[in-house]
Amino acid sequence: MALSSNSSTSQDSREKITIQNVSRSYESTQALADVSFSVAEGEFCCVVGPSGCGKTTLLRAIAGLDDPDGGSILVGGDPVTGPGLDRGMVFQEYALFPWRTVRGNIRFGLDRPACDCPDCEARVRELINLVGLDGFEDAYPKELSGGMKQRVGIARALAVSPEILLLDEPFASVDAQTRDRLHVELLDIWTQTEQTVVFVTHDIDEAVTLADRVVVMDANPGTVRSTVPVEIDRPRQRTAQEFLEYVARIRDELGSPQEVNEASQ
Ligand code: ADP
Repeated sequence: MALSSNSSTSQDSREKITIQNVSRSYESTQALADVSFSVAEGEFCCVVGPSGCGKTTLLRAIAGLDDPDGGSILVGGDPVTGPGLDRGMVFQEYALFPWRTVRGNIRFGLDRPACDCPDCEARVRELINLVGLDGFEDAYPKELSGGMKQRVGIARALAVSPEILLLDEPFASVDAQTRDRLHVELLDIWTQTEQTVVFVTHDIDEAVTLADRVVVMDANPGTVRSTVPVEIDRPRQRTAQEFLEYVARIRDELGSPQEVNEASQ
């Protein structure tokens, strides 16, 4: 699934997600402190930073699953007040129903999960095809590899054609080879759907492979240190000089070697 060059950021600078001065504390921990940035419509934005810098908290707030203490999050200009069909979320640990088949799990993402009308059936088949799981429709999660489970998670999040896809370290639990393949597939899906993507990771290579723009976060408290536009045509080669320069630049932004090692593991 080769992907041609895509520079949606420069093509479309309309703001889809606007994060303004967002703060969130848990008892004595300030997870997010005055976080502000925006994501353009159709942009692939990666958020990178060390463990505990508030990446998941931020993503959950965009999804409407968590309520910040201060600031605001706008989606398409409207404040986020809770979850919505305009935002699909993919979780790190798959979050599949073990008692449902691939088809049943994906079907659950539809706005009418119990409906078996021809349109809903066709949509489920289309999603299974999109994520490359043809032939596994009736398999249960325990029969699938990590990569396949995450494909189900992605298909389920895509079921209602959300305008925004939010992914929380979705490939952290799969082997490196599978991860590479899933990167290609995710970029291919993104090209087809033209969705706005926010992808959280602690892996700098992964961020530079995928992103139009990388938001680099700091911990204690969670703040935005910088944003780095990645101006490399796709598909990107990890051994290319300019790729390595972006990785080095983000590693510098992230701080000390010890922090970077933790962030890259
Ligand atoms: P990241 O995703 O970057 O690892 P998180 O958003 O998970 O960071 O967490 C940010 C900080 O908030 C961490 O210090 C974490 O321990 C704390 N935190 C997150 N969720 C909770 C919670 N439900 N209760 C208490 N502390 C939490």
